[in-house]
Amino acid sequence: MKKPIKKPVKKEIKPKKVNKPVKTETKKESAGAEKSKRTFNLLRGMHDILPKEERYWKAMFHASENLASYFQFGRIETPVLEEASLFVRAVGKGTDVVDKEMYLFEDRDGSKVCMRPENTAAIVRAYIMYGMWNAPQPVKLWYWGSMFRHDRPQAGRYRQFTQVGYETLGSHDPAADAELILVAYNFYQELGLPVTIHINSLGTPEERVRYKSELVNYYRSKRSYLCEDCKQRLVKNPLRLLDCKAEQCQGVKDEAPQIIDWLGTESKSHLTKVLEYLDAVEVPYQLTHTLVRGLDYYTHTVFEIYPDTPDAGGGAQSALGGGGRYDLLVEEMGGRPTPACGFALGLERSFHVLKQYLEQNGKDIPKERPDVFFAQLGEEARKVTLKLINDLRKSGLKIGFNFFKNSLKTQLELADGFKVPYVLIIGQKEVQDNTVIIRDMESGIQEIVDQKKLETMLKKKLGKV
Ligand code: AMP
Repeated sequence: MKKPIKKPVKKEIKPKKVNKPVKTETKKESAGAEKSKRTFNLLRGMHDILPKEERYWKAMFHASENLASYFQFGRIETPVLEEASLFVRAVGKGTDVVDKEMYLFEDRDGSKVCMRPENTAAIVRAYIMYGMWNAPQPVKLWYWGSMFRHDRPQAGRYRQFTQVGYETLGSHDPAADAELILVAYNFYQELGLPVTIHINSLGTPEERVRYKSELVNYYRSKRSYLCEDCKQRLVKNPLRLLDCKAEQCQGVKDEAPQIIDWLGTESKSHLTKVLEYLDAVEVPYQLTHTLVRGLDYYTHTVFEIYPDTPDAGGGAQSALGGGGRYDLLVEEMGGRPTPACGFALGLERSFHVLKQYLEQNGKDIPKERPDVFFAQLGEEARKVTLKLINDLRKSGLKIGFNFFKNSLKTQLELADGFKVPYVLIIGQKEVQDNTVIIRDMESGIQEIVDQKKLETMLKKKLGKV
């Protein structure tokens, strides 16, 4: 038999009398209270992209996407995190990227992982992993994403930055190099930024070895004139001697042997053909014998893109992007011998230079403007307006509105700021009649239309039928 459920007896809870002395806050507690109040800042070298900058980023993305589609590059997205040795193998020990800048850490299982400092190594990994050599060659890929380098932050130099890159794998043809350079050039043409391509050839590894020994001999004889960095480079990475920007090394650099004199017939012919293509498509370039690029994997063509603006943001000496041929990398990474080339553009740097250039020339990237503005008066009108705006979403029309302003005057001022030709108005009467007022902003003439006919009417008025 079930026991009858006893009703709980309600006990009156009397507050206990506490006569304890008032406790003063301990140091720990006050630190805790402070902690909960503190605001947060960015990590060093990191940055946000704010809505006011969005139109530039959108323009850059559109330019890269349109070019990729026109020149038939397929989009590839690889992870931010990869096995650390992927980059050590591809980029090479002795380079700044590998020795000093990799975001390297141990994962929870003890494996060494790395936030990608560049993306060519990952593209090559993917090319091999998915057996892309079975597809018709060349395979043309493009990407857009964040890279990470624990660099010393300065103007235009961040620890997380964005690159867009294009890679062509499976072609020896100088036309492949030229096509990539044309894409890079077109990217800045689309944005309205004048640029020049700096180009050089690093030849084959054998040619480079011979050249390097000549370069080292020459620099050794001038050792006492060199900056401390160059004394290091002489031992660690002699080609980077040609990259030195220090004033005291410029004279020595100007007189240094030039790699072009150490190239064999084939390497010279490859470079000449690339230049002939560039002449044919009218891409401005400059042969720069000191251009060597920072990474190990390059062979033959190397190039960088510089703004033609004297006072470019991020340092006048900074390249917006660069790339070149890497004919041996796929094989070195475990794949079949596959000639390849590619480049990457730094988008933060491009953004700064572009913004500065446009501002200096009284230009801007056009802001996105709505086709019409929707004003509402009162709670009920707001509901109907929201419904109509949502219905118009698929019409392809851009509707401006601000639900947080109630007065018609303010809303008309906003509409004026957008320079829209028409404003739609809904008040109490229109809610009852299922109508909308269409106001012509130039003439001030108002017209009442049925809500159901709004889309057709608008398209007709805006010439979007
Ligand atoms: P790289 O392949 O290292 O020459 O990089 C290509 C482009 O990426 C450079 O020309 C820069 O525009 C950009 N870039 C490289 N490192 C950084 C960085 N730390 N911060 C911002 N942009 C960078």
